[in-house]
Amino acid sequence: MDTKWITCMEEDDKECLESAGEILRSGGLVAFPTETVYGLGGEALNPSSSEKIYAAKGRPSDNPLIVHICKFEDIYRIVADTPESREMLKVAEKLAHAFWPGPLTMILPKSDEVPYETTGGLSTVAVRMPKHKTALALIEKGGGYIAAPSANTSGRPSPTLAKHVKEDMDGRIDMIVDGGEVGIGIESTIVDLTVEPVQILRPGYITAAMISQIVGKVDMDVTILSDASGQTPRAPGMKYRHYAPKGELTIVSGKQEDVVKYINQALKKAREAGLKTGVIATDETKEQYEADLVKTAGSRQDEATVAKSLYGILRDFDEEGMQVMYSESFPLDGIGQAIMNRLLKAAGHHVIQL
Ligand code: AMP
Ligand code: MG
Repeated sequence: MDTKWITCMEEDDKECLESAGEILRSGGLVAFPTETVYGLGGEALNPSSSEKIYAAKGRPSDNPLIVHICKFEDIYRIVADTPESREMLKVAEKLAHAFWPGPLTMILPKSDEVPYETTGGLSTVAVRMPKHKTALALIEKGGGYIAAPSANTSGRPSPTLAKHVKEDMDGRIDMIVDGGEVGIGIESTIVDLTVEPVQILRPGYITAAMISQIVGKVDMDVTILSDASGQTPRAPGMKYRHYAPKGELTIVSGKQEDVVKYINQALKKAREAGLKTGVIATDETKEQYEADLVKTAGSRQDEATVAKSLYGILRDFDEEGMQVMYSESFPLDGIGQAIMNRLLKAAGHHVIQL
């Protein structure tokens, strides 16, 4: 398949929106920017589009897709109409009022309109309204309900630039819409509204504290920051070793000077063994490492930049063939929790605590 590349920096680029919308409405696949990461879009209510998404990503078919909408009212068609789900929708309305459009995905009981192909066989549906003008315009042109998982091959870091999408999806999808670099760089927060209290299944830019201000008590899936419980994550996608670089990544946690010293010693050994080495550093420490490739994720004072840089760095390390990589650790509150959740998964939970 020939994958068309189209640049669309303005949300009112009619030519781009028309051609992408037409592909979506006829059951094809279009990758497009959102504020979190690039999404791989297909019609959410069309089972054959969802099947194409799984095939293009090589995604296990039990890992459900998030349905993207462009206006809140559209949620009612895809959520079950029962007394229980109407109560859950009241919570959804409050959260949407606070955070939509934005990087928050809500899990609710699905209506019959949503095919099981889209929900990975589950009777619940994940729904989100992204805060990105091109994405919103495309969802509308594509018929209002667009399933859009991250536009990476399953197991690779999510794409934060259109060129990352091309690396993974060229020849596998109909079109890539290049809208420049994404704003956040880490996937949406997922909150399950079908349980009481509501539960965060995947941390993101919208934190537990922010959600708690709107709905009161919020629980966390125990698997978010630890693999010690032996439990299976409740978001099926979180059980896979996602975001995995090809080399071996270790996170080192402790006082800054101890971390730098430990990593440098480990790098020396790896280099002596003839291995290619990389470090995920911060602006505060980047000059202090001796590795083949040192990449700063940004300043420790600015975790939003760290979140945005992370996946691009992991991809760069893959491209350069890094075999042994070390990363500094980040605080576990605020957006740091989402950063550490992704880093821990990339490292297969391999952490050195100094
Ligand atoms: P992605 O769009 O690639 O960020 O992946 C979507 C994530 O949402 C995966 O981790 C899925 O397992 C999760 N997800 C989607 N639908 C549901 C659902 N109905 N229940 C629980 N998790 C879900
Ligand atoms: Mg993904």
